Amino acid sequence: MSTSRTGTATWLRHAAQAKREAQARGLARCPLCGVWMDYEVGKRPNSAEADHIRPHSLGGSDDIDNIRVICRRCNQSRGNGLKRPGRQRQRPIKRIELAKPARSGAFPAPPA
Ligand SMILES: [Zn+2]
Repeated sequence: MSTSRTGTATWLRHAAQAKREAQARGLARCPLCGVWMDYEVGKRPNSAEADHIRPHSLGGSDDIDNIRVICRRCNQSRGNGLKRPGRQRQRPIKRIELAKPARSGAFPAPPA
């Protein structure tokens, strides 16, 4: 079964390496959308992030040759093309006391 691999030491090491190499190569713009990428600050829409070229779900590996650097926004919108199996939050269902229906004939007769 496939689990999230983006937290493994291998991935993190290779992701950092890919970003260093991309920066050293002079990859300043996101190859997908062309935005100027920020290598220094994370969690921004234009932050440089490592991405699996071939997604894990399709058998892609964490190897450095399967990693490219794109901006965070592209990385997030791509999402392997698959919906992440996020944990579903379950809300407790409120128990609603059903109002007792008025018995037929309980209504006053309409004025004559
Ligand atoms: Zn982009």
